[in-house]
Amino acid sequence: MTIARLALDVPLYRLFDYLVEDSPRLQVGLRVKAPFGNREKIGVIVELAKKSELPPEQLKTAALLDDDLPPLTPDFFRLCEFASQYYQAPLGEVILQALPPGLKKTHPAQRRARKPKAGKPVKTAAPLPELNAEQEAAVQAVKSRQDYAPFLLYGVTGSGKTEVYLRLIAATLAKGKQTLLLAPEINLTPQLETRLMARFPNAPIVMLHSDLGEAARERAWRAAFQGEARIVVGTRLSVFTPLPDLGLIIVDEEHDASYKQQDGMRYSARDLAVFRARLAKLPIVLGSATPSLESWAHAGHGRYTLLTLQERAVSGAKLPAIRILDTRRVKLSDGLSPQLIEALRLRLAAKEQSLVFLNRRGYAPVLACPACGWISRCPRCAANRVVHLADQRLRCHHCGLETPIPRACPTCGNQDILPFGRGTQRLESMLTGVFPTARILRVDRDSAKSRTQWEALLAKIQAGAADILVGTQMLAKGHDFPRLTLVGVVGADAALFAADWRAPERLFAQLMQVSGRAGRADLPGEVILQSEYPEHPLYRAITTHDYPGYAETLLNERRQAGFPPYAYQAILRAEAAHMETALAFLHQAANLPCVEDYPDITLYDPIPMRLFRLMNQERAQLLLESPSRPQLQDFLPVWRETLATLPRKNKLRWHIEVDPLEF
Ligand code: ADP
Ligand code: ZN
Ligand code: ZN
Repeated sequence: MTIARLALDVPLYRLFDYLVEDSPRLQVGLRVKAPFGNREKIGVIVELAKKSELPPEQLKTAALLDDDLPPLTPDFFRLCEFASQYYQAPLGEVILQALPPGLKKTHPAQRRARKPKAGKPVKTAAPLPELNAEQEAAVQAVKSRQDYAPFLLYGVTGSGKTEVYLRLIAATLAKGKQTLLLAPEINLTPQLETRLMARFPNAPIVMLHSDLGEAARERAWRAAFQGEARIVVGTRLSVFTPLPDLGLIIVDEEHDASYKQQDGMRYSARDLAVFRARLAKLPIVLGSATPSLESWAHAGHGRYTLLTLQERAVSGAKLPAIRILDTRRVKLSDGLSPQLIEALRLRLAAKEQSLVFLNRRGYAPVLACPACGWISRCPRCAANRVVHLADQRLRCHHCGLETPIPRACPTCGNQDILPFGRGTQRLESMLTGVFPTARILRVDRDSAKSRTQWEALLAKIQAGAADILVGTQMLAKGHDFPRLTLVGVVGADAALFAADWRAPERLFAQLMQVSGRAGRADLPGEVILQSEYPEHPLYRAITTHDYPGYAETLLNERRQAGFPPYAYQAILRAEAAHMETALAFLHQAANLPCVEDYPDITLYDPIPMRLFRLMNQERAQLLLESPSRPQLQDFLPVWRETLATLPRKNKLRWHIEVDPLEF
């Protein structure tokens, strides 16, 4: 018998020793079935040893799985170890969350191997567009590197970033290497898949995302790991996929917040991708029309090489003209200005498409009683329940709680309770009132719940079966609607004054993206943005498409305030039934003796989180900041270990998040 040190999916920062029977097959990286407590778990062998520190009678026996999967590789373990250290997550949890669910079953299903689908041979292969000079320079710059080389590809919407990716993938395929392409939400952008399949009819491609069924996901993952798949496209979790011949990593829309995992191990897939490229000594391309300020600052300091695409790629296609419409000077009807209504009317007459963008779904954000002041609060969260008129529900967007819309005020019985504010459903019904014969299509997470519904909606839009789209940011991401020439933006002001200091960065990116939908090819585009603050610097930068200028402004503000990327942050969050419990724990955490050994770390006062109650749990946070990332990284494990020894009252739960994006 040999001692195997196992990674197990348990919240403990250690490996577990088991006995395994000697066999020629026994190797680090294989999965085993191990008794744990009164059940069985799947573990991964991280080390083999002759001796254990445990007395022999305490060692239980684990059995190798009868499965043809080759052992997980050293580079996979190194990436997991890094993630575990950097994000303060137990190694076992990191390793097991990286595997598809089908490989974590103690009774695995027998799966028949199936070749990953290659692109379909196209009847008349479209000739490749000739690259413009900027695209050519970008492709050459990346192709010339075989070692670790991070690139930031900054290109306005429609500038041909995807075309650059396709050329780089082709070059990587030609070298016999695999490409890992990360995309924020693949299920939202089936066009990417279509384009890859059309371009690479003979290359096996797999898509890895959580919408796949368990069997499909396992098959895709195996094909990637065993090297059959040459192009691997995936969402954030796929950054961990072990790839034997990896030659290039691409992170599309690198600024997108969905690269950040918001529960369990809270990691940034973009940042891990960069680390992975360094580990594997590979080039990596981060692409965006509105790069994250972190990446932009890296490019400024020369840590990333900046590649720029300034113009739209299709000849004659221009960036849309963006007009900020001062709504203080006009009479709005149902929130719409006469100018926007007129512009919509013109598009209807010309049989072109329009999009009205409002990033708030539902009918109205709150239902209120003017007589007694009752509002539709969620009883479980520090948030209001949203009016959904389409299905007559009040729904909490945080915890999902829903009830029928009451006919009268629950407190005073008043029958005239009113929805306040505006969401996409209300906008849709207002537009129907103004344009009774127009075909109006609402696109948000309510109308596109499943991938099938979403694809059906996209097909309808592509086919020109809608005149006016009403949509949230779901519609803003990377779609190409050739007949869309007008974008109206309403309700954007709310984000200007949000308490979150990252809100302007996010709003800018969102507005650039949604504006980018207007006027893709032969038809020029127009954007009308309604605002009460037309002089705001953010809007001025939007009208001139000046991402670099605005990024500079924001970076200066961040530098002066000592915010990231000029400081490094982590957050300790605590949840409990009562706020006092959570705050008391955080105060205790802030005053531990070990804190004094790290003078370059600032601990702020514990405060309730903005969403201070979620699902009946009250939540508070403690922000840590340091000008030195190494010092923060040294401190966190010491602190975490001490925190784990503190007695916990009243089912208090806590976690640490490194590089938090939301507060
Ligand atoms: P992005 O990813 O930056 O939004 P795309 O790669 O999707 O841009 O390109 C936008 C459009 O321009 C696509 O229809 C694409 O086929 C086309 N295109 C890209 N590069 C060229 C080029 N060099 N010449 C002509 N058309 C191009
Ligand atoms: Zn009332
Ligand atoms: Zn709720």
